[in-house]
Amino acid sequence: MALSKLHVKKDDEVMVIAGNDKGKRGKVLKAFPKEERVVVEGINIRHKHQQPSQDMPQGGIVEKEAPIYSSNVMLICKYCDQPTKTGTEVLDSGEKVRVCKECGEIID
Ligand SMILES: [Zn+2]
Repeated sequence: MALSKLHVKKDDEVMVIAGNDKGKRGKVLKAFPKEERVVVEGINIRHKHQQPSQDMPQGGIVEKEAPIYSSNVMLICKYCDQPTKTGTEVLDSGEKVRVCKECGEIID
């Protein structure tokens, strides 16, 4: 079986299309292809209580993004600035690249 691959990857800008953060945009901070999840900047924030530590003697609440399903985000094309589906194109070099289905530009 082929290695599962997400339609988005680190540093992509994406739009959330489902869940509490629907309609928000953010940058992919981390991608977990095996789990089919991504962590998106500013999306799905969880408040975590931090035990007191040397850096934070009083302890406190830390805001941290929790992973969301990759199927809940759409890639935003950097050329046409639209949330878009992507197609795959194979270059002469054999390299596979993602192509915006809205404007046809190569995204990778
Ligand atoms: Zn486009």
